[in-house]
Amino acid sequence: MLKVNLDSLDLNSLPTGQSSGYFYIDTIDEYFLPFFLLRGEKDGPTALVTAGLHPTEYTSIEAAYDLILNQPAVIRGTLAILPLINWKGFWQRSITYNPADNKNFNRVFPGDLKGSESQVIAQYISEKFTRHANVHLDLHSGNMVERLLPFCIFHKDNPKSSELADVFGLPYKLGTNLNGVTTTAATSYDCAGLIAEGGECGHVDRDHVEALSLGVRRVLSFLGMTSSVVEQQHYECPHEVELRSEIAKTDVLWYPKARTGQTLQKNETVGYTKEFFDKEAQPVLSMSNGVLLYMMDSILVKQGEPLYSLGEFPKI
Ligand SMILES: [Zn+2]
Repeated sequence: MLKVNLDSLDLNSLPTGQSSGYFYIDTIDEYFLPFFLLRGEKDGPTALVTAGLHPTEYTSIEAAYDLILNQPAVIRGTLAILPLINWKGFWQRSITYNPADNKNFNRVFPGDLKGSESQVIAQYISEKFTRHANVHLDLHSGNMVERLLPFCIFHKDNPKSSELADVFGLPYKLGTNLNGVTTTAATSYDCAGLIAEGGECGHVDRDHVEALSLGVRRVLSFLGMTSSVVEQQHYECPHEVELRSEIAKTDVLWYPKARTGQTLQKNETVGYTKEFFDKEAQPVLSMSNGVLLYMMDSILVKQGEPLYSLGEFPKI
């Protein structure tokens, strides 16, 4: 398989046609970045698709891989797919972090060449891809201990990013301007970023793989990059919600009761927590009315991690 020094890539001067292989970075040992590049016959927008920032979010990695195997017919512009950013985490089956520096890739963008390994890789991706891209679609899923409903995250202050969430077509969308995430970094490069979440608990669920893959195809069609018009097949328009999360104040044992997708009333029991030798578990009550978008599905929830997240509907 082709191995290419990432320093040599110029996304703006690719020849027509496709290529795939692995990029490597001179200063980073044992790191490979699988890639697929496709340039259409005509000039047009550049779309970047990434997955595997979180290495056990297998549905999203599979969706990016599926797009490589069943590639969209791009006639205009450039499609770049990077299906596995957290290469070392994937092979070591690290749930969330890059084992090289214990960093969360989706908190280090746009990166820093003077930082640790994840920051350097993020900076390379930002400069070599995001800087030249019109859109950055970053695919995610529930990792091995997370349950979630499919939703998109857009950048709060970027209307183009919000519009992409409508086009992508998952049932919920929410805005953020959190530093370090790909949608915020994309906006700083005048690129519309979108995080799409589908699938849970590290399973590769075909329906969610197809929903993520279809979302990417819809965006490419919307940008005029493909000849086919991809119809919306799943949802008419996403519901916009505010995310409200209950964060564990200490390491706790967690016993969920409610299920993702359930509509909860304020003060309804979401689950129970206790410490190791406690006989009695304490109820965790819903902080508001809303739909249960996200839930930790692990008996251990560490300090600072969310027990659950609620999608709160806007107050009218
Ligand atoms: Zn993720």
